[in-house]
Amino acid sequence: MDTQKGLNLLENKRIAIVGGGPGGLTLALLLQRKGADVTVYERDYSQETRIQGAIVDLHVDSGLKVIKAAGLLDAFKANYMSGADKYRTLDQQANICVDEPSQGTAADFDNIHFRPEIDRGTLRNVLLNVLLPGTVIWDRQLTSLEEMATEWHLTFKNGTTAVADLVIGADGYRSKIRPYVTDSKALYSGVTIIQGEIDHPEKDCPEMDELIDRGNLMAIGVGKSIAAQPRGDGGLTFYASSLYAEDWIKTSGIDFTSPDDVYGYLVNFYEGWNPVFYTLFKACNYFVPRPLTYFPLDQPWATQSIITLIGDAAHLMPPSGEGVNTAMLDALDLSECLTSRKFTDLQTAIAAYEGQMRARAVILLAEALEGINEFASPSAASVKELVQQYNQKGS
Ligand SMILES: Cc1cc2nc3c(=O)[nH]c(=O)nc-3n(C[C@H](O)[C@H](O)[C@H](O)COP(=O)(O)OP(=O)(O)OC[C@H]3O[C@@H](n4cnc5c(N)ncnc54)[C@H](O)[C@@H]3O)c2cc1C
Repeated sequence: MDTQKGLNLLENKRIAIVGGGPGGLTLALLLQRKGADVTVYERDYSQETRIQGAIVDLHVDSGLKVIKAAGLLDAFKANYMSGADKYRTLDQQANICVDEPSQGTAADFDNIHFRPEIDRGTLRNVLLNVLLPGTVIWDRQLTSLEEMATEWHLTFKNGTTAVADLVIGADGYRSKIRPYVTDSKALYSGVTIIQGEIDHPEKDCPEMDELIDRGNLMAIGVGKSIAAQPRGDGGLTFYASSLYAEDWIKTSGIDFTSPDDVYGYLVNFYEGWNPVFYTLFKACNYFVPRPLTYFPLDQPWATQSIITLIGDAAHLMPPSGEGVNTAMLDALDLSECLTSRKFTDLQTAIAAYEGQMRARAVILLAEALEGINEFASPSAASVKELVQQYNQKGS
């Protein structure tokens, strides 16, 4: 532990971080750098488990700021996907209407407009590589928590247990820790996405692969959209999105474990679109439907003294490109509060963190809720404007 004057709130405290996503691992690293005794309990069986979902872009004032604070900028530069930050927008006939180039070799990690993309699994490895060996314990899916006097007893699905003096829930949108902090429940945003994964797009849907061109692609029609992104391993992820009733997954009659069933639904739903999009659906052998939910932030919970939340577990919101960035920023804020000498006790330090986290999340949630409908269900006006842009390009 460091030797500055003032109280050292983490002295002799066993800290359990539940969840080894970007938030949990960043927090573990930042606390470990201050000499704290940290263990991350992660549900995945091992470091090799592939993380679902494609690339994420880090921002100068959040994710990249934390990467720099953790001394990981060189590791990030060695691992990010140069050029993947370009954006291409298509209309439903697959005409390229807008092409926003990437920053390419002019990458400037201090430029607010530069948003370098990194594969989720690679980002996890960048963080894991600098944690002390044994910090992350795999195959630890938390099932319950019990407060015993001044400590927590953690129980995992595989029958093992652990004890901690401070628990931080970094276990994402279905957090098992959250109910011990607040009883506020997730609400449905109105948007459901069907996520698809393709391992060999160059072979299985080459025309789409060329259109995506290892960057971000968005195709829009009135009331529905398709977004696609590369993965770090050469595969790609796509999201077919629209507005659906909350119980649609159950009532649709679609067997989401059957690629043929989902293919049939999508071809029908995207009727009238250029058939090149159907090649994307056909090439996919793994679909997962995701109803997008969020935690309302209008009822702050009462701060507790030995438990708190970061990232999606604290403030799940519809995707707006901020989730990973915010989870990492939470980790930075919490690590600074817990190791600051200006607080006299843990509860005051946690309250200071939760205040910062909530103030930021309230703004981001409002933006995310506003943006998600237009993302999933573009208006006729947006589609018309896009087609006009294409026509002007051609004239
Ligand atoms: C379709 C989609 C696209 C997105 N795109 C982007 C994007 O482009 N950019 C962006 O910044 N954000 C994006 N997000 C949001 C982003 O994924 C999340 O906000 C971010 O991953 C949250 O980080 P986290 O560390 O809080 O949680 P997570 O990343 O969810 O990590 C939680 C970890 O906890 C583990 N875990 C879960 N339950 C348990 C348990 N019971 N016990 C132990 N471990 C457990 C999980 O295995 C996981 O490793 C997207 C989200 C979705 C749904």
